[in-house]
Amino acid sequence: MALLQISEPGQSPQPHQRKKSVGIDLGTTNSLVATVRSGIEAILPDEQGRDLLPSVVHYIPEGVSCVGYEAAEHNSTDPLNTLSSIKRLLGRGVDDIKTLGDTLPYEFTSDEGGMPRINTAYGVVSPIQVSAEILRKLAGRAELALGGMLDGAVITVPAYFDDAQRQATKDAATLAGIKVLRLLNEPTAAAIAYGLDTEVAEDESQQRLIAVYDLGGGTFDISILRLSKGVFEVLATGGDSALGGDDFDHAIANWLRIELAMGETLDVVEQRILLEAAKSAKQELSQKEQVEIEVLETALVLTREKMHELIDDLIEKTLKACKRSMRDAKIDVNSIDEVVLVGGSTRMPSVSEKVTELFGLKPKCSIDPDLVVAMGAAKQADVLVGNNTDGDMLLLDVIPLSLGIETMGGLTEKIIHRNTTIPVAKAQEFTTFKDGQTAMSIHVVQGDRELVSDCRSLARFELQGIPPMVAGGAKIQVSYQVDADGLLNVSARELSSGVESRIEVKPSYGLSDNEITQMLQDSFSHARDDMRLRGLREQQVEADRMLEDLRAAIEKDGQSLLDDSELQCLHLALDELQQLRENSEDHRQLAAQIETVGKTSEEFAARRMDASIKQALAGLSLDDALK
Ligand code: AMP
Repeated sequence: MALLQISEPGQSPQPHQRKKSVGIDLGTTNSLVATVRSGIEAILPDEQGRDLLPSVVHYIPEGVSCVGYEAAEHNSTDPLNTLSSIKRLLGRGVDDIKTLGDTLPYEFTSDEGGMPRINTAYGVVSPIQVSAEILRKLAGRAELALGGMLDGAVITVPAYFDDAQRQATKDAATLAGIKVLRLLNEPTAAAIAYGLDTEVAEDESQQRLIAVYDLGGGTFDISILRLSKGVFEVLATGGDSALGGDDFDHAIANWLRIELAMGETLDVVEQRILLEAAKSAKQELSQKEQVEIEVLETALVLTREKMHELIDDLIEKTLKACKRSMRDAKIDVNSIDEVVLVGGSTRMPSVSEKVTELFGLKPKCSIDPDLVVAMGAAKQADVLVGNNTDGDMLLLDVIPLSLGIETMGGLTEKIIHRNTTIPVAKAQEFTTFKDGQTAMSIHVVQGDRELVSDCRSLARFELQGIPPMVAGGAKIQVSYQVDADGLLNVSARELSSGVESRIEVKPSYGLSDNEITQMLQDSFSHARDDMRLRGLREQQVEADRMLEDLRAAIEKDGQSLLDDSELQCLHLALDELQQLRENSEDHRQLAAQIETVGKTSEEFAARRMDASIKQALAGLSLDDALK
């Protein structure tokens, strides 16, 4: 009889005992939980056999009354306490939600500049708490099905989620008592579900490019992924946060309105009737060539071809976004090896036909497009928890907007560029602006515009204790590190003295997908203006530096080293520079005057140099001076 069972460090005494892991697709409208059983991914349904969990939480004075389908039933009777679409608020600030005011009918309350909270019958709740309730419900469902506590979960997030939104998702999981193995980008999860990663592993030398086309009800996302030597990375993400199946419904409803000779303005009830008829006709047309629509006591026929005509320009918009993302990723459409379809609207034949046409490939669509993300997350969780060492892979994602630092003149210096693969660490050296400067303020910003005021402020901190040196003497290395979950760590270090300061960027709110799209669009359309403004700001900073230095020098040595006419000449040149600094919008004009002042003050600078050498040598013998 064995008295002792000895196991290697890190190995379980029962090596065949599987750990309990799940993948969670935390969606805006619906959420899902999946696991891997006997090597196959499966959605874990509720007791009634339903796969989806509506992302809805209902509050009563005692607390949460219900989550999911039951909660959604309270939508019309108790809207203020029935919270849905909470994912849109996760990681966002009070100012961000102002734009959502019309679409989310809740009573918000918040501390100035902080996280928005919602007033409910139970009291004030935060989006993180509400998301935690959804996650808790899914984890409970999984624990019941798997017969015990979960060892960990992979939770998916949109690829464009920023730092704050990712952090908020993680916080919600922690609050729900779930161990997060990793946050995984939704498109990456879809590619994993199709096993595209393992196909590559068989041929190590090959790289494959995958486009994940995700068209849901309200949003469109395109992601370009690359698989190479067992490394999985997202090269680019793009899309349109206000384009989806709901827009198709509106286009069809509008056609119905015209066919029924109804007026331009409809009341809310008429609108809802037309939209519902449009939606069900659209969905039926995914199986049939034509449908009969009975609406407001009239029967109409809609063919697939006619519907295609109505929504064609909307589909075209998605294709344009695909092309833009491929440009971002610097790849040609012909080099895409696989296309994966995600989201309910990709069930439409006209969508998959257009996608096939664009990429010249038949897209992968055999897995239910509503379940595929959760399936991929489950597969990844199974690997991360240690159940499947064969499928070990490294997943890399990208950051959606550039991360930068504020420099003089309110300009953004990008340190990590948009679409850079994470994890990533980059450092850049900066220096001091003034003589004797002992502190430097570091302002971390996110965005692709040239001016800080057009970017988003993520954090500020100060590096203190820089040894006093002449301006430009100190060498301050600022390092940005983004971990695999997309969280940013910034540190600043003065290289000669080693003084260091660091900050982990955990902003209390984030950017919405709409804003990210908007910021990117702005950065494209304002690129030329921004470059002009950057040029101007740079010259203004140079002018300020010159004015300050020369005025100090004149005050100290002007009388002794310059005659009256020289002094007057220099003053005139400086006044002209000051005047242009204040009023000119033309950076070339300002640069020309900076050069003029430089030339006018050359002789003065030379005399000052001589004078200071003479002073340093005064009283020294030649031998002393040469020592
Ligand atoms: P999702 O956000 O991924 O759940 O997608 C929801 C969208 O998919 C809605 O606009 C639905 O109308 C649309 N959808 C679901 N099933 C179908 C179908 N069979 N044909 C066309 N659209 C569909």
